Amino acid sequence: MDKRSKYAALIGMGAALASLPVRAALYRPEKVNGGTLPDEQVDLERYRKNLSDAIRIKTIASDDAEKTDWAPFDEFHELLRERYPLIHEKLELKEFGRGSLLFRWHGSDPSLDPIALLAHQDVVPVSEGTEDDWEHPAFEGHDDGEFIWGRGALDMKNHLIAVMEAVEDLLAEGFAPVRDVYLCLGHNEEVMCSVDNGAVIMCNYFEEQGIHLDCIIDEGGAILPVNIGGVIHKNLAGIGVAEKGYADFEVAVTAKGGHSSQSPNHTAIGKLADVIKDIENHQFKAELTPMMMELFDKIGRNCSFPVRMVTCNIKLLKPLIKKAMTYIPPAASMIRTTTGVTMASGSPAPNVLPQRASVNVNFRIFPGETVEDVEKHLRKVIRNKNVEISLRPGWKNPSKISPRDSRCFKALEEICVSMDPDNIVAPYLVMGGTDACHYEAVCENIYRYSPFPVSTALLLTVHGTNERIPIASMAVGVAFFKRYVRRLSLP
Ligand SMILES: [Zn+2]
Repeated sequence: MDKRSKYAALIGMGAALASLPVRAALYRPEKVNGGTLPDEQVDLERYRKNLSDAIRIKTIASDDAEKTDWAPFDEFHELLRERYPLIHEKLELKEFGRGSLLFRWHGSDPSLDPIALLAHQDVVPVSEGTEDDWEHPAFEGHDDGEFIWGRGALDMKNHLIAVMEAVEDLLAEGFAPVRDVYLCLGHNEEVMCSVDNGAVIMCNYFEEQGIHLDCIIDEGGAILPVNIGGVIHKNLAGIGVAEKGYADFEVAVTAKGGHSSQSPNHTAIGKLADVIKDIENHQFKAELTPMMMELFDKIGRNCSFPVRMVTCNIKLLKPLIKKAMTYIPPAASMIRTTTGVTMASGSPAPNVLPQRASVNVNFRIFPGETVEDVEKHLRKVIRNKNVEISLRPGWKNPSKISPRDSRCFKALEEICVSMDPDNIVAPYLVMGGTDACHYEAVCENIYRYSPFPVSTALLLTVHGTNERIPIASMAVGVAFFKRYVRRLSLP
C-alpha cells in the first residue's frame, strides 16, 4: 500500500469511528402502534379454579389409541361443557379421532377465510421415580396463591383454558366475529408416532371441506424477561414462525462374532467408534437466517446507548456472531441442524464379540433442509462404506417459515406492545414440535406464541419436575386471547 492509500484508509476508518455515536443514537426500535386497544376484563378467580381442575384430569395419550385411557379425556370434555356453557350453546362442536374437539364460531361473513386457535389437551406423564420430587403432586392442580402447580400448567392447559375463558367472555359480552373462529383442541400432540394424530385428522377435515385458514395461533414462545444490568430491561415476546424437523437414524456396523478371548484388533464396536467420530466431526453448516438477524436486530435496537455502539454494526458482526454461536450448544441449535448420538448397542454378553453394533443418531433439522438431506450428509461424511444407515419411524421435516409481513403477524406485534410497551416482538425458531405444523396444507400464516410472562427457570420445568404457572401471569394470557380474537376475527 502506498502512502496515499494508507492515508485514505486511515481517514476512512476515522470517519467510520466518528460516525459511530450518531449511528448508535439513530439505531432505535421501530415504532409499533399498540396504544389503541381497550383494556379487557378477566375473571381471574374463575380461570384459576378451571385451570386447577383441568390439571387434576390425567389426559395422557399413548401412541397406540387402543392403549390410551379415554376416561380422563371424557372427563376433560365434561369439565369444558360444564365450565363453558356459552361456548357449548353457541358454537358448533365436532369430535375427531376419539378425543380431539373442533369448535366453530360462525362469523357474519362466510366469504372470508376463518381464523383458528390451536391447543392440545394431552400432557406428558411424570417420569417414573420422580413423583416424590414434586413439591405438590403433579395431578393435584394445587393453587398456593402464588403458583398453580402440576403437569400441563405451562404445556399447555394454561393456554387451552385461557382460550376457552377468552371466548366464553367474548360471548357473554355479546361480541360477534365477522370471520369464522375455530378452536382446534387436539388430543395427542405429545405422542410423536401416533397414527390417529388429532391435528392431522382436523386438518384433513378442513381440506375436505375446502376451508382455507387465514391464520393459526398455537403454543410457542412465552414472554421472557431480558434483564442485563445497564444493557437492556425488556421482555422478549418470541413469535415462533417456524419449527425444526426431527429424525432418528440407526447407524450399524456388522462383524464376525465369536469368543472375546480371541478378539480381533477392532470389533464391530471399534469400527463403529470411527463412524461416530466421522459423524460428530462433520456438523451441519450453520446459517444466520434473515429471521435470526431480525431477532438480534430487534434486541440490539433496545439496548442502552453504549451497547448500541456495538450492536448497530450487527451486519458487520454477522460472521463473528455465527462463529461464536456454534461453540454454545443451545445457541448452535438455533442456527443449524443438530446431531446427537444418543443410544448404543453391542453384544448381549460381556464375553461375546458383537456381530452387530449400532447407535441412534438424533437430528433436529433446520428449516430449508430435509430428512433426505440428512441421510445424504451421513452417507457422505462416513468413510466406512459398509455401514447400514436406516431411518427410524416418527420423523418429520421442518416446517415452512411463516411470513413476518402478514396481517396476523402485524396484529400480534400490536397486541403484544399494547399490553406492555416493554415487549419486544421478534420472530424465532421453535425447537420442539407443535400441532401447528400439521396445518400447512390449509394455512400459510402459522404462529406459535404462548402469551404468558414466564421466567426461563420456570420454562425448564416443562416436561420436568414442579411444572407451575405464576398466577401473576395468568390474566395476561386471557386478555391477550380476547384482544386477539376481537382483532383477527375482523376482515
Ligand atoms: Zn405442548
